[in-house]
Amino acid sequence: GGVVVAIDGPAGSGKSSVSRATARRLGFGYQDTGAAYRALAWSALDRGIDTTDAAAVIASLPGFDYRISTDPDHTVVQVGDTDVTEAIREPRVSAVVSQVARIPEVRAYLVELFRSVIRESLRPGIVTEGRDITTVVAPDADVRILLTASEEARMARRSLEVTGQSAEVTAQQLSSRDVQDSRVVDFMNAADGVTTVDSTHLDFDQTVTAVVDL
Ligand code: C5P
Repeated sequence: GGVVVAIDGPAGSGKSSVSRATARRLGFGYQDTGAAYRALAWSALDRGIDTTDAAAVIASLPGFDYRISTDPDHTVVQVGDTDVTEAIREPRVSAVVSQVARIPEVRAYLVELFRSVIRESLRPGIVTEGRDITTVVAPDADVRILLTASEEARMARRSLEVTGQSAEVTAQQLSSRDVQDSRVVDFMNAADGVTTVDSTHLDFDQTVTAVVDL
């Protein structure tokens, strides 16, 4: 197999854009694992499934037709034939995604899917990012990075991305998602052997360069 790069970090750390740019610079594939949790949450909402009903969400897994491209220049997310690339970023999805992500059976199912995407990648390497990539999905990755930034920096960046609501509301939603997610996976502290890249005082290009150098 090719080079495996694992990147974890909290919401708003810039992990998605940094990981995608890193993959582009190196000619690697790119896998956004949060997109799968989001697509599953979107699919549950679309089918009228209560996202707090673990049994119902688990029952929906075999029919969950998740399709993702690992080309960093064309990151299209589909559920069946529906393009959900934009829809999975909507606040109504962000609001419930942690509910499906905390279900152990959901995690086990998606972890296997993520590993198969890494195994089957045809490029010289693949950058996979999420919350538990350095610890659960690919603990043997060639490069393992925790991308962090101060809470202020993360809130400021995310409020630029989310339009149609106040920065205060965005900040509150982000921190409540991090609190919920941290109960399931510890992505605020680097595990043994994981290199921390703190982007608080770095601009985007400097952060990508730091990751590419590693
Ligand atoms: O990275 P992003 O913010 O898009 O992730 C959306 C959600 O998916 C997270 O809030 C978390 O609940 C879940 N997630 C996860 N494990 C990952 C990636 C994402 O639990 N590896």
